[in-house]
Amino acid sequence: MTDGEWVEAQQGPTPVRRAAPLSFREKRLTGLLALAPIALALAVLAPIAAVTGADAGEVVSAALVYGGLLGLAVGFVAVDRLQARQCPRCRSRPERGSEVCTACGYDLEHRPRFACEERHHTYLDDDGDCSCGRPLRPLPIVHGVGREIVFMVKLGAGLLVFLLAVGLVLQVIERNV
Ligand SMILES: [Zn+2]
Ligand SMILES: [Zn+2]
Repeated sequence: MTDGEWVEAQQGPTPVRRAAPLSFREKRLTGLLALAPIALALAVLAPIAAVTGADAGEVVSAALVYGGLLGLAVGFVAVDRLQARQCPRCRSRPERGSEVCTACGYDLEHRPRFACEERHHTYLDDDGDCSCGRPLRPLPIVHGVGREIVFMVKLGAGLLVFLLAVGLVLQVIERNV
């Protein structure tokens, strides 16, 4: 069943669904973006290592750790932004900046959402009632950063704290040996 048929076959309001998987081109783009910081870290660290006399192994491992962490964050943002370009209702990929989805007519500019007072499910239209039978009401329109971005920033901060803690512990161990 294609996405269009799924929307057609759906009785009542359209529930919010997970974003469709990325296409091969989008995955390749995400992969390249995620790897770029490692190359960047190598390019920055190599001249510094040449001056300070650090060995190649140290440079490569530092580039992998710091570039890899940055790459992880970049990859998260890239996936989020690519998924945000999809129409949330029919998961087609309208042109960037479209105000209305050409496939299903969803208002991409305001992205209206609906839920019953118990918030069982979030729906993208109010064509009927919630699955519990209560009437649907419009939800306030969300502006600003998406939940995924907030999650990603928290994850990044958590990783940073973890790394600093490990570094500190290693230093303490080194001093006491
Ligand atoms: Zn659509
Ligand atoms: Zn409900």
